[in-house]
Amino acid sequence: MANSDLTFTFPPAPRPSVAVDGSTARFPVNRIYCVGRNYTEHAREMGNDEREPPFFFTKPGDAVIDDGKNIPFPCSTNNLHHEAELVVAIGKDGVNIPVADASPYIWGYAAGNDLTRRDMQAMAKKMARPWDMAKGFDHSAPCGPLHPVKDIGHMKKGSIRLLVNGDLRQNGDIADMIWSPAEIIAHLSALVALAPGDLIYTGTPAGVGRLIMGDTVRVEIAGLGPVSTTFS
Ligand code: MN
Repeated sequence: MANSDLTFTFPPAPRPSVAVDGSTARFPVNRIYCVGRNYTEHAREMGNDEREPPFFFTKPGDAVIDDGKNIPFPCSTNNLHHEAELVVAIGKDGVNIPVADASPYIWGYAAGNDLTRRDMQAMAKKMARPWDMAKGFDHSAPCGPLHPVKDIGHMKKGSIRLLVNGDLRQNGDIADMIWSPAEIIAHLSALVALAPGDLIYTGTPAGVGRLIMGDTVRVEIAGLGPVSTTFS
């Protein structure tokens, strides 16, 4: 049955989406996957062995927010953290995708911020509980404008930086990811069917830290538009 033939008990929520550089058309967001510990220095600062295979967590699709937004300071945390990340946007369906075949599944790239309630995550780790409420809260996935692969090609290297109120806090290079986007797609597509509209936050370099009410946090990746978020 086509979606237009369905009736609903109340109007469905609007489809989450992100801006596309150079276009008025928006990219419809399906699911949001995130990779844990994908830069050696960050894995070390979190006290982990950099050799472990990639692991994933998720955020709701409607956690995504555009560049330049003011958002409420997240509730139930005294230690909100920023995590500057390259976002990979998926444009094709696929399962069990080999690494060598993975690149055509990438529709585009953006700068993103994997906002994290670090105190809640620390408690979840200690209690061997899920991370969902530490990671998948409202407005937890700022995402800058997507840059289509057809325009910019594939992102292999380049500066990734994060500034809080103009002060540099994270300064890395996406070439230092332990698992490349193609390798991430291969691992993730062995766990779930990837679909057009899926976003993958690919992990953060060292330098994660605390945000407070009133801060403006900005992620910059060379060749991509920034994503700036203010807590008010
Ligand atoms: Mn992260």
